[in-house]
Parts: sequence; structure tokens; C-alpha cells
Amino acid sequence: MGCDSYRLNEIEKSKVVTDNIELNSKIRLAKLSHYNTSTCDLAVNEKAIITEVKFESSIYDKAAYRLTHLPNKQFVVDFNPKFVSAQGSVADKKLDELMRNKTNKCFARANEFMLGPNDEVITLRLSEDREVPSFLVLVEKTDRAYAHQFSTETNCAALVHEYLHRTGLVDEYREKNVLDEQGRPIYNCRHVGPEDSIMSNHELRANQTGNLILPVVTLKGYSPTDFGKRSALTFDPNDSNDKQSFDAEVERFRQKYKTEVVKVEFKDGGKGLHKSLLTAAQFRAITSPRCESKNSLYFMCAANAYRTTYPDYTAEKFALYNGKLGELSCVPAPEQCKDPNWAVK
Ligand SMILES: [Zn+2]
Repeated sequence: MGCDSYRLNEIEKSKVVTDNIELNSKIRLAKLSHYNTSTCDLAVNEKAIITEVKFESSIYDKAAYRLTHLPNKQFVVDFNPKFVSAQGSVADKKLDELMRNKTNKCFARANEFMLGPNDEVITLRLSEDREVPSFLVLVEKTDRAYAHQFSTETNCAALVHEYLHRTGLVDEYREKNVLDEQGRPIYNCRHVGPEDSIMSNHELRANQTGNLILPVVTLKGYSPTDFGKRSALTFDPNDSNDKQSFDAEVERFRQKYKTEVVKVEFKDGGKGLHKSLLTAAQFRAITSPRCESKNSLYFMCAANAYRTTYPDYTAEKFALYNGKLGELSCVPAPEQCKDPNWAVK
């Protein structure tokens, strides 16, 4: 059935193309094909402002970055966050500086491992250059981070995950915590990726990449694996700011579960299993964001990441974020989206 729907979708797509051909002059068509070829891969020293990706998925936390292709297989991804304090005003100088320092430190750590399948390199960077599209980040301490909300206490693996949403990458885990009013997990159309993906379990991926450590916390009444995964942080125990974030996170969980900390261990989380924080599919989606031919499977599966079968939620949320009524029900996807490899290869 999935295959049939997929074919139908392809027919619909080609109908749109045909309509365009009928509507547009040959000159317009020539321009279109030029546009398509030139934007599939950026030429060396070319840059692009990316504020939308080739699929309709997230209704919020949209892509916002500048991509630059440099010689020697190098890419730079620039982000321009505007930090907002919990009180809702633009962050003061001190908070802004704290968040920038935190981000720069996490980027420096991640940049060692932002590699493509053919030894390409991505450098994540902050930029206040006016042409780099900006986005708001609410600086507030919470149990979980979002692309539009994190704090100085957010661990580096989570922070990098949140910035990667701004390149258009979607979540790949089964969402259990974002619920509608009836307590149903709403993003139930999502196609799940592999567990060891930075967009699925960012801590696990970080710990399996390079030379990072995995703290495992045991809470009274819980097994280390229950809690370990959720509390895992990638951090440098010699860094006082890291130590502070870690202690804060442990304390938050201790209070949440109303129990005591039995043990904190530092383990090798399987380091060196991956040479990159990114899969090949994620790397291509970031560095060729307008290229449908290279990313067709990723784009088709990713399109369902924030869609739902619950109609009430659909209309309400769409209206909230888009200011008009719209449709957020599942879109037809190929059978391959059922295999987590859609987000890998
Ligand atoms: Zn996410």
C-alpha cells in the first residue's frame, strides 16, 4: 500500500511539473532548469541562504543558515541566533555572551567530527552577518531542549542537535512526550531513524564518535540503563562549566524522580564506532539542501516528522504557527521509510 501511495504521489508531482510547463514560456523553463542544476551542489566559493528545505515538515523551528562551499571539501554552516531571556526580552550582554561562549565551545568540540562520507568537513559557526537568517532562542532551563529553547545548562550533544534542526534535519526518535490534550503522542506519522543518530539519541551518537565519555548516573530505584541514557552527557570533567551543567542535570533528574543518586560512573560509550556525528544522508541534506535528486529518500521520509493522524491537533497547531488553517496529516511515503536506514545511507 505504501508503494501505491508513493506512486500516486509521484504522479501528482509530475502533474504539477506538466502544469508548470504549460503555464510558463520556454524562457521561464530554461531559467528553472538552470536554477535546478546550479543549486544541487554549490560551486566552490559559492554560498547560499537556506530558509526552507525541499519538503514541508516542521511547522516551526524552520531551517535558517548560510551554507558556504570552500575549496578542499570544506563547508561552513553559519547560524545567527538571537537569544531572548526568560522574561521575553532580548538577552542582555552578559546572557548573550554566555550563550555565545557556550555555543562556540560546543561547536568547537563538534567540528572535529562533522564529517561527510568522502572526508568532507563541515564547520559550524556563529555569525552576526546580516545576510545570515536569524532565529529566536528562548534561554530558559527546562528538562528538555528545543531548537527554539535551550540554556547554558544544555549539554553539548543536545545543543548541537538543536542547532542541526536549523539546517533542516528532523527528529528521528519515536516521540512520546509531545502530547495532545487527550495525552496522545502527536507526531505519530514520524519515520524513525537509527537509535545511534544525532537526531535520535544525540548523547549516544556523541559518545560513539571520537573520544568522548559517557557518564552513567544510577538513581535509587532505577537501573543505570533506565536513567543512564537520559542523563548521559558528553562533557569534559576537567571543565568547570561542563561539571556545573552535569551537576545541574543530575539534580534536576533527582528532584523529578524524587529519589537519591546512588552512583555516578564514567564509561566508554563505545567511542570510535562512528567517525562522524552525521550520517551520510544527514550530511547530504545539509550540504545539498535544494537537491532533490541526491536527497529524495531523506526528504520524503523527513516530510512526516511533525505530522499527525489527529485532525484536531492538525488544524489548531497549523493555524497557531502559520496564521491560517492548513493540513498536517501524514503524507504518502515510500516503503523504505519504515527502515531506519532512510536516515543513514
Ligand atoms: Zn530535536
